[in-house]
Amino acid sequence: MNQLLGNCTVVDARALPVKDAGVWITGDRITAVGPYGEIASRARAAGPVVERDMGGAFVTPGLANMHTHFSLSLPGGGGNAVKDMGPHDLALYMADGARRTLDCGVTTVRNVAEKDHADFALRRAINAGRAVGPRMYTAGRALVCTGGHGHESGDTMECDGPVGFRHGVRSQIKAGADLIKVMISGGLAGEHEAISTPQLFADEMAAVIETAHAWGRKVTAHAGPAEVIGAAVELGLDCVEHGYQLTPQVAARMAEKGTALVPTLLVTRCKEFFDELGVPEWMQCRSLGAGPRHIESFQMALEAGVEILLGSDMPPFWSFEGTNATVRELENLAEHLGPERALHAGTRGPIRWLGLEKDLGTVEEGKYADLIAMDADPLDDTSAFRGVRFVMKGGVVSREDQR
Ligand SMILES: [Zn+2]
Repeated sequence: MNQLLGNCTVVDARALPVKDAGVWITGDRITAVGPYGEIASRARAAGPVVERDMGGAFVTPGLANMHTHFSLSLPGGGGNAVKDMGPHDLALYMADGARRTLDCGVTTVRNVAEKDHADFALRRAINAGRAVGPRMYTAGRALVCTGGHGHESGDTMECDGPVGFRHGVRSQIKAGADLIKVMISGGLAGEHEAISTPQLFADEMAAVIETAHAWGRKVTAHAGPAEVIGAAVELGLDCVEHGYQLTPQVAARMAEKGTALVPTLLVTRCKEFFDELGVPEWMQCRSLGAGPRHIESFQMALEAGVEILLGSDMPPFWSFEGTNATVRELENLAEHLGPERALHAGTRGPIRWLGLEKDLGTVEEGKYADLIAMDADPLDDTSAFRGVRFVMKGGVVSREDQR
C-alpha cells in the first residue's frame, strides 16, 4: 500500500527541517521525503495512494526509550502487586504497558530487566502482530551478584564469580537477549545496600563484557559510583545507567571510549510517582536525596562530551507531571542539552547505540516508517512532544486523534 503524508514539516536529528513536506510510504518503509509537490506527483504516478493531511503538524521519528521496564516492581504496595502476579497476568500487564508506550509516540524501547522472560514472549507477539507495542530490544533478566541490586524479584539472575557470570550472559542470550544488563553497584531500591556499594569484582565484570562481546551483544550497567564505573569503562563497557556519582575524570574516559550514559534523571525526582506506588520512606529519602549529586554528575558527563541517551526507568507510558514519563525525561534532558540535542538523545542516538541506524532513527528514504506528529515545533521546545497526536510504526497508524 502507498501512503502519502502531506501538509507537515519533517524534523529529525540529522538535517534542517523540511517545510511543506511530503512523506511517501510504501508498505512499512519510507520511499521518499521532500517538497510536497514533487513527492506527491511521484507517489501518485506509482499507483493508488492513501493521502493524509497532517494539518500543519511537525513529523519526527518515533522516540526511543533506552531504559524501560514493563514489569517494574519497586518496594511498596504498587510494586508488590506486580511482583505477586502469576505468569498470565504478568504477560497481559506487560502487553498493556507496551500498547500504552506506543501510544505515547515511543516506537522503540530497550528493556533492561524484565521478569521471568515474559519480555521474550511479548517481543515475539509484537513482531508477529499479535500484540501492539514498540520495537523491543531486551536484555531479559539483569545479572546481579547474590543479594545484589534488584535480586528480590524475577527480573534478575543471581551469579557469582567469573564462571557464574559467563553462564549468566550465555543463559540470557540463549533465551533471546539482544543485549546484556548487569548491576555493578548498589542503587536506590535495595534495602541492604547503598548507591556506592561495589557489587562485582573486576574478574566478574570482565567475564560479563568479554562473553557478551564475543556473542555480538553490547553490555549496559546499572552503576552509581565513579570508581566502579571507571573500572568497567576500562574493561569495555558500552553504556552506563544512572551514573549517580561520576567525576570529571571518569566522564572524560567515558567520552574517549565511546561509553554512552542513560542518566534517568527522573528516578531522583519523582516523589509523586513513588507516593502513587506506596514506595517506603527509606527509598524515597535515598532517591530524592541523591538528586543534587545526580544532576552534578550528569553535567560532568555533558561537559566531557559523553553521548547522552533518553531513558525513563519509570514505565515509559506512566502519567507523570502532566505528560508521560518518557516525555518528562526528555524535557529533563532538554533543560541541559537544549531541544536540538534532546531530539538526538531521544531518536537517532539510541538507534545508533542499538545498531539500527540502517532502518530507524531518522525520517529518511529506505527506513521504516516509524513516525509521530505533533502541533508544536520540537526544535523550539521539547515540550512539543506532550502533544503527540499521531503515531505510525512500520507504516501502520496506531494513533490518530480527532481534532
Ligand atoms: Zn531500571
